[in-house]
Amino acid sequence: MTAPNPFFDTQIRPYGTAAITEAAALIREGHPVAIATETVYGLAADATNGAAVARIYAAKGRPSFNPLIVHVLSLGDAERIAVFDDEARALARRFWPGPLTLVLPLRPESGIASLVTAGLATIALRCPAHPAMRALLAAANVPLAAPSANASGRISPTRAEHVAASLDGRIPLIVDAGQTAHGLESTIVAVADGKVRLLRPGPIVDPAFVRSTGGAIESPGQMANHYAPAKPLRLNATEAAPGEWLIGFGAVPGHATLSASGDLVEAAANLFALLHEADAQALPRIAVAPVPAEGLGIAINDRLTRAAAPR
Ligand code: AMP
Ligand code: MG
Repeated sequence: MTAPNPFFDTQIRPYGTAAITEAAALIREGHPVAIATETVYGLAADATNGAAVARIYAAKGRPSFNPLIVHVLSLGDAERIAVFDDEARALARRFWPGPLTLVLPLRPESGIASLVTAGLATIALRCPAHPAMRALLAAANVPLAAPSANASGRISPTRAEHVAASLDGRIPLIVDAGQTAHGLESTIVAVADGKVRLLRPGPIVDPAFVRSTGGAIESPGQMANHYAPAKPLRLNATEAAPGEWLIGFGAVPGHATLSASGDLVEAAANLFALLHEADAQALPRIAVAPVPAEGLGIAINDRLTRAAAPR
């Protein structure tokens, strides 16, 4: 029912026109590709393709879905995805291209797959400076979601060999552009209500970035890192009880399904959109069919278990 991760004969190609052409073709086919940025090597996939984003998680073996940073070529491209206020635009003009990530309100019509933001109404955006990542963005002509190119639990890779040591056989291609300059993940700030809150320290340091203190601004739902539906949710349901809207999987059809064929890549790609759809129904409760806890199913179950926990 659920195929194991496909095995790839991972190629390492030096950064150049041929490698970028090959990488862009793989991106268009929905595969993640490892590539240098000025921070660390990223594992990049088409941010508008939910299945491609699911394959990032499959390759990394990440046991949970966290929102990913989306990389774009320009402020203009970024403004088509997120809503910038004057403060956010000023930061982008000052620090982009470069290792600063801005968390901003997501435009509903952005076309970004809901797995990228893990269902949140905000999105993390960055305009990278590294010529290899910029060349791939230009050739692929789509925004690229890219976490660090390492297996879950391993340290972030600053050389192509580090990527190979951790992801060999799990991805088709590594674009080798030598050692990364910063070797440290990007600074992340959230811009809202005239404040610039530091969510993750990084290469860009500025006294105007206010350290997150866990104060009122972090009230649930506002800047929280995780989306959960508002309604009660029941796990491992094989049919809908009265008042329940059932999210199916495989043999359990439900009112809508994560994947009728029991494909975990498809299920991961559909997960957050279906949770939102379930929340919007007239029925007061949500039920979800069993999803096997293997491969991507581990992260899917992690998210469903959190959504089912009493709040
Ligand atoms: P990585 O891509 O592995 O460097 O990690 C991305 C980081 O950005 C994680 O710490 C996320 O929690 C954070 N992040 C991404 N999107 C958001 C968002 N919408 N709100 C808050 N934090 C975010
Ligand atoms: Mg990482």
